[in-house]
Parts: sequence; structure tokens; C-alpha cells
Amino acid sequence: MTEAGPRWTLVCHGGAGLVTRDHLTPEQDAAYREALTTAADAGAAVLRAGGRAIDAVEVAILRLEDDPLFNAGRGAAFTAEGRNELDASIMDGATLAAGAVAGLSTTRHPISAARAVIEGSDHVLLGGEGADAFARAQGLEQVDPSFFFTEARWRSLERALGRLGLPVPPRPEGVAVDARAELAHDEGKRGTVGCVALDIHGDLAAGTSTGGTTAKRWGRVGDSPLVGAGTYAANAAAAVSCTGAGEYFIRLGVAHRICALVEYGGLSLQRAVDRVVQDDLTALGGEGGVIAVDPHGHMAWSFNTEGMYRARVADGEPLAVGLYKDEA
Ligand code: ASP
Repeated sequence: MTEAGPRWTLVCHGGAGLVTRDHLTPEQDAAYREALTTAADAGAAVLRAGGRAIDAVEVAILRLEDDPLFNAGRGAAFTAEGRNELDASIMDGATLAAGAVAGLSTTRHPISAARAVIEGSDHVLLGGEGADAFARAQGLEQVDPSFFFTEARWRSLERALGRLGLPVPPRPEGVAVDARAELAHDEGKRGTVGCVALDIHGDLAAGTSTGGTTAKRWGRVGDSPLVGAGTYAANAAAAVSCTGAGEYFIRLGVAHRICALVEYGGLSLQRAVDRVVQDDLTALGGEGGVIAVDPHGHMAWSFNTEGMYRARVADGEPLAVGLYKDEA
């Protein structure tokens, strides 16, 4: 028998990478902790009021998408051509309903577009201009593509293009400098946001949103909008959201693999996430991390990078934020 855990739980992440005390200033450390607290608090409020896991996941991710500290929504990374192409997915563990979008450039909140795919279409994954057109038709807020411009991500692009020996595209004109965005930490090439939750009805949900990898090319799509790779939720197993080098997560089907180890392999949640991240992902040469919850209220994470921005909260337990490897 599995010991009964808290009635509701929520975990969110803001990406994994070179997150160490040496690489973050005290101001950056404080800003990331505050942002993760705000997002986890917003999701927890939904669950505390008896709301659904999928709503809590969407609400928490909306906060993270609006914060330029993270490579998702407002703070999205740039493609090699100097564009922002945003990806997201969300899944309801109760019904296995899933929605996803790839390559958005005018929709402010990709996670809400992914959610709308579930409720407003017969499809699971929409891409490119069609996905923006769908989001617009669903009444979701549209913005000029320059909304996603942040100076810090542009500098990351310049560095990445320099390493690749590629030309730097013309810098968009007339974009304002955002003081908060200047605090964004370049955690390698990446950073993505995600959330997993269990509600008091016993239902799980997972969601992930990203700007993708800096200097991505040719319409590249990563794992974040791919159900089974970057996101998966099934009440019979777990809810999982991933962050890291998407190509490796796609090849391993990381999120679904963790769920399969729990459901068919009988592994505990922590053993399943460690097995896939520390053994399988590492053996393949991929870097990143995952967060997960199961229907018994257990929470788990695992990463093979220096650190991962993360926060967890549960019924009767205080909210806890971690950035570095040595934090619980
Ligand atoms: N997994 C994302 C992607 O490959 C990036 C990240 O999580 O940092 O698009």
C-alpha cells in the first residue's frame, strides 16, 4: 500500500542549466526565488479552493510566461533569424486530453493557446501561423512580435551566433529596455517553464512552455510541445514536465517513459525520475531536468545540470523554492 500523501500538490520549474551560486548575483538569486514563489502561490490558490489541477497548471505557467526572467512567453529566446517562436503543451491526466502549439509568434500566452486546442479543436498539436490564427480566433490576446524582445536574450543570441559562426540578424528597432529582463540569467542555451499538479479530486495535470533553444534554426521544434516527450500526465501514473536539451528528451520520450516506469514497472516516482534523468538521459549525452507528481501526492524532481529553478507546495506543507543542487 502506498502511504497517503497530501490532498493536493504542485511543483513548478523555470528551467535547468548553469544555475550555481557563482553564476547568479544576489539580486538574480532573489528575483528568481520571488518569481517562482509567485507562480507556485498562484497555482496553489486554485488547488486550495478545490479547483482543478489543469487550471492550477495553466495559472502558474501564465505567471512564468509573463516574467521576462524565464525563457517562455515574454522572455523567449531568439531563433538564429532573430525571431521568437514559442512552444507549449498541457495535458489532463484524468482524461488524457492534450493540447499543444509550436512556433507561435504573436500569441502572448502559449500555455492558454495549448489549453484552447483541447477545448476548441479536434486536434492535439497546431503549428506556426495556423496556431496563432487559431489562438486569435479563440479570443486569446495577440501582441506585436516585438513584445517578446528582451535585451538579455538578444545578447545571448549574439553570443550563440558568434560560437556558431553565423551572422547576427538586424536588431529590431524601437524596443524598450526592461530593467527586470536585465536580471535574466543566461543558464546555458536554455530555460523553460513547467508545472505539474494533483488536485483534491485525485486528478493530475502537466504543462510546459518555452521559447526553445537560443539560435534554433529552420523551424526547429523541441520537446516542450510534444506530448510524451516534454509533457505527460495520466492519473494511472504521474504528471511530468521536462526542461533541457529537447532533442534528447524527444528521442527518449522522457515524460512518457517516466510514467511507464511508474505504471508498468512499479517504480516509485523518485526512482522513475532518477532512472530516466540520471541513467538514460545522461547515457545518451543529454542535459536537463524534470519535475513530477503522482496521484498519491508524492513530488519528485531530478536534474543532471548544475541546478534547476524549482518550487513545490502541498496541502499542509510550506512552499519551498530551490535553485542549486544542494537545496532540498
Ligand atoms: N526543452 C526546451 C527545448 O528544447 C528548452 C529548455 O527546456 O530549456 O526547446
